[in-house]
Amino acid sequence: MCCITKNTGYVFSSFLNERVIQIPDKQGKIIVLLGPPGAGKGTLAEKLVKRNGFQHLSTGEMIRKSDDKELKDLISKGDLVPDKIMIKLLKEKLGTMDFEKGLILDGFPRTLDQAHKLDSILGKMGVGLSSAVYLNISSDTAKDRLAKRAEEQDREDDKDAETIKQRFKEFREKTVPIIDFYKRSRKLKDIKSGVPAEEVYTRVVKSLGLKAGKDEE
Ligand code: ADP
Repeated sequence: MCCITKNTGYVFSSFLNERVIQIPDKQGKIIVLLGPPGAGKGTLAEKLVKRNGFQHLSTGEMIRKSDDKELKDLISKGDLVPDKIMIKLLKEKLGTMDFEKGLILDGFPRTLDQAHKLDSILGKMGVGLSSAVYLNISSDTAKDRLAKRAEEQDREDDKDAETIKQRFKEFREKTVPIIDFYKRSRKLKDIKSGVPAEEVYTRVVKSLGLKAGKDEE
């Protein structure tokens, strides 16, 4: 008798002598986080890493840490980095990753072209996207959060009103169409997120069928 259990990703085989062989599945869950600036993508990702053992890849962090002045200039104006450059950077980074622990992709994809390319890159690597978590929040609440973040963290793109306006415009025009794309492929988890971070985490793990963890003391 042989069966594949969906949740654990383990393959069990039992034979006449009742021996059970467990072969770990190659792939953990690959999850995309979508949402406007200030929706809480980074905060949620941090909890999923600490409590559920995921790896985390933030494309915004990648760019902030890079030495490329042109890319940093784009960020400081609130513009998206061109798809071609972003996809190349992501592809290189994914090539160095091991998917066994699962992966949170925070901030990618942000355009339909990126979403299509992500499917094909992952497909060529023999893995696939599990879910797209959309942190659904009103722009007023998100803007209030950005104002707080500007005080707490030193992020240039959170300080200037024109930059913030431009980031929301990019989100509305280029990222919102992706929500529909994932809805059609039944991968979308629409999470109401104008609530404390702990509640967002609880809602997300529930929708993903994961066990809620706690921070270690
Ligand atoms: P937030 O979602 O809070 O705005 P991020 O750290 O995710 O912050 O992104 C910061 C900036 O990095 C974006 O405004 C954009 O300029 C750039 N960026 C990040 N991810 C992408 C992406 N997938 N495509 C294009 N630009 C990106």
